[in-house]
Amino acid sequence: MVDKKLPQKWDEKADIIIVGSGFAGLAAAIETKEAGSSVIILEKMKGYGGNSTISDGVIAAAATKIQADLEITDSSQHMYEDMLKAGLGLNQPELVQALTERSSETFQWTIDFLGVKYLNRVDQFGGHSVPRSYTTYNRSGSAIIKQLLQKVNDLGMRIRTKVFLQTILVDSKERICGVLVRDGYEYPDATTGIAKYIKARKAVILATGGFANDIELRTSQDPRLTSEIGSTNKYSTTGEALREALRIGAMPVHLSWIQLGPWASPDEKAYGIGPDFASYIAFPYGIMVNPKTGNRFVNELADRKIRSDAILLVGQPCIGIADEEGIRASGHRIEHCLRKGVVKKFNQIHEIADYYQIPIHSLKKTIEQFNDYVDQRFDEDFNKPILSNAKPLRYPPFFCIRLWPKVHHTMGGVLINSKAQVLNLSLQPMKGFYAAGEVTGGIHGACRLGSCAIIDCLVFGRIAGRYAASNQKI
Ligand SMILES: Cc1cc2nc3c(=O)[nH]c(=O)nc-3n(C[C@H](O)[C@H](O)[C@H](O)COP(=O)(O)OP(=O)(O)OC[C@H]3O[C@@H](n4cnc5c(N)ncnc54)[C@H](O)[C@@H]3O)c2cc1C
Repeated sequence: MVDKKLPQKWDEKADIIIVGSGFAGLAAAIETKEAGSSVIILEKMKGYGGNSTISDGVIAAAATKIQADLEITDSSQHMYEDMLKAGLGLNQPELVQALTERSSETFQWTIDFLGVKYLNRVDQFGGHSVPRSYTTYNRSGSAIIKQLLQKVNDLGMRIRTKVFLQTILVDSKERICGVLVRDGYEYPDATTGIAKYIKARKAVILATGGFANDIELRTSQDPRLTSEIGSTNKYSTTGEALREALRIGAMPVHLSWIQLGPWASPDEKAYGIGPDFASYIAFPYGIMVNPKTGNRFVNELADRKIRSDAILLVGQPCIGIADEEGIRASGHRIEHCLRKGVVKKFNQIHEIADYYQIPIHSLKKTIEQFNDYVDQRFDEDFNKPILSNAKPLRYPPFFCIRLWPKVHHTMGGVLINSKAQVLNLSLQPMKGFYAAGEVTGGIHGACRLGSCAIIDCLVFGRIAGRYAASNQKI
């Protein structure tokens, strides 16, 4: 598609324009610069880092040195199979292969090259068949963003904030040749700022994240996801750049696969802190019950889609329960969750039943049954993995959380190949156009596993940067 709006004169020129300053954009910037290209990084908001900086900073990687030291047997093939299973086989195999094969090396790059520090632990998140999730020292993606920014600075690059990508420009040879931006933009008003044309001599890399807070776009794909359903994402996670990529002919994939987080609580806004308790303690060491029946209803360590769909089917917030021993075994602290009131403390099972109006007899029976499964190391009802250090749920005080899913991740986006080139409607690479991170689709299929987004962004951000830098200049 030839764009009618090519300027007579460009305001600025660079080899590569990167749009977005999250994990994917910054990883791409480092690679392009290291390969000797000039780079301009654009960011529509006044702060850097997008969702990346508010993420939990948990990154998955298979067959790492840390796993080997802990005698955890894993392989990229094993991780590939887990991702395909959760994705219901809708994942693009070549993309999953590229991600899983590079996961260990990329994780090590964050340590050796970027200097990211991690907690001395490996966790097993829902849908992963072994422990392979590593958490940054401050339990936040900001620890990775800070180190990426440091490298970006060291390499002499600067991020242009409040610059909004409005139009991607295509020349008469069907090559992406630059962008029209609004410089001085004030979110969300696309008429603010000054129009500027920036030429990309080699490529444009789109790293603009997902669209979890774009109510119009998400309800066009899944009408259930109205403004009534909360989101864990930054308010600015909207899909203008994705729509622009589709306008110029990028192939969309999986736009209606939108992930809800089963560990979210209706008792706080956005992502909050309840997921710290649910993901690390209640799900792996405790149980989740339907308050109407007092029964468990799903494998608490199944993938996010299975758990969220199961909670939605119950039709009201469900209750996650753990005890003092679960907290000890997890190695996590929950004072912050108790202070905020999102997690409640109880001395007796009947107090839990009274507070949440759960039938006491069935709740007691459910806990006894679960404790038998822990003792025999096998969950006959839901086949939930019983962790090696898990103990029966009988050591007061007990801790509970109400759980109701929130929109968390958009699996869909533009289709790329394993060189991170954006494909057009004829499934051919669009010349000079690359994408990485949550703006792309097809990698996670129907369901992204926890901790697989950060590794996705870093692996494909780096790939996009390297291949874009190898293009001929125009
Ligand atoms: C609360 C929370 C916790 C999470 N925790 C984890 C975790 O522990 N592990 C994990 O693997 N994943 C996690 N995720 C998911 C993961 O953080 C995201 O998928 C990932 O950060 C996306 O990175 P990105 O670089 O693609 O996009 P982002 O980090 O969102 O960056 C995109 C940037 O592009 C900018 N932008 C968008 N449109 C334009 C435009 N038109 N012009 C200019 N700039 C634009 C945005 O403002 C934004 O700054 C979490 C997500 C959330 C919300």
